[in-house]
Amino acid sequence: MMRPGGGPGTQLLHLSPAGLNPNCTSLPEAAVSDREGRMSCRNVLITGCSSGIGLALAVHLARDELRRFRVVATMRDLGRRGELETRAGTALGHTLEIRQLDVDCEESVRRCVEAIPQQRVDVLVSNAGRGLVGPLELQSVEAARRLLDTNVLGLLRLVRQVLPDMKRRRSGHVVVMSSVLGLQGLLFNDLYCASKFAVEGFCESLALQALKFGVHISLIEPGPVATEFERKLYEEAATLDLSGLDPETRELFQGFYLPYSREVFAALAQSPAEVAEHTARVITSESPPFRSQTNSLYAPLATLKHADTSGHLPLAAFQRLIFQHDRLFKASLSLLKLLQWRKRRDMDHTKTP
Ligand code: NAD
Repeated sequence: MMRPGGGPGTQLLHLSPAGLNPNCTSLPEAAVSDREGRMSCRNVLITGCSSGIGLALAVHLARDELRRFRVVATMRDLGRRGELETRAGTALGHTLEIRQLDVDCEESVRRCVEAIPQQRVDVLVSNAGRGLVGPLELQSVEAARRLLDTNVLGLLRLVRQVLPDMKRRRSGHVVVMSSVLGLQGLLFNDLYCASKFAVEGFCESLALQALKFGVHISLIEPGPVATEFERKLYEEAATLDLSGLDPETRELFQGFYLPYSREVFAALAQSPAEVAEHTARVITSESPPFRSQTNSLYAPLATLKHADTSGHLPLAAFQRLIFQHDRLFKASLSLLKLLQWRKRRDMDHTKTP
């Protein structure tokens, strides 16, 4: 099977600290050669790099010790490039460049890709996305349209721009930031889940055609991640006018869902760096998985769904977990929180010289 970004049998041949890779950067670096001995360095275009997972991934790949990537880190608003510039450090202008790209605008996507030498995108990471939580009765059709425009049509605009060239070259990798909520619905996340389910269906269909051309598609499915995403969701939830809601739904959202959701984030959230590391492993894999979850604690969700095609099992399990065994669930979250804290503390200790 073809490796993304290279011809058949592309291999990492040797690491030469003094070697130069003219295809990638002027800095000394490792050499990555294909079967014909050509040096190769993959152009990676990432969307939504002003914060969160996109920013962490752009920095991770641009600072790759083997210097295998030239990162085009894109964002909607270049005024928000400060943190990325700081974190990229010396990689800026060498293995990382920053460009404007708004996934809601076809012209913006086209302009960005056309500005890349030979318009060559070896790896596309469709990461930009927005969230939406709350009772359905309070969501306007316009808000739903904006969400789907970014999360679903944004992916379509990107793929339409880069896929023809990948097919022509018979190599490439499209990596899509989905979510475990693209596999399993969640209370008060109806529209967000709809957008991520759409992304999953789109990719499952496309993967069949893409593989025929040696192009890989990979869905990354994180659970909760501690980024601005979470903060923005709670801020938006706080501004919702709940007065028109029936009292039971209001209580379910305000008194139950919001505190429950905060506890889940506090106990289970990964850092953007962890998701970036996972994604980098998928990108560098000889045989990239079509689908991968970043947080093993969520694996049972998908398993339940496939274990019972009637859909009763996952619905009943969720219903019981949330509404009947909520004390046990909260106790488990507290334990997980403690375990996460200890794991991070141990990792920090091992990093300290
Ligand atoms: P984030 O809010 O930090 O990052 C999202 C980025 O997308 C932001 O930089 C934002 O400016 C950008 N963006 C939004 N609309 C855009 C547009 N039209 N054009 C270009 N950029 C745009 O949050 P994050 O957690 O890093 O989210 C990244 C991806 O991960 C999203 O697709 C999100 O759905 C997914 N995800 C997040 C979580 C989580 O809990 N944070 C969990 C699962 C999946």
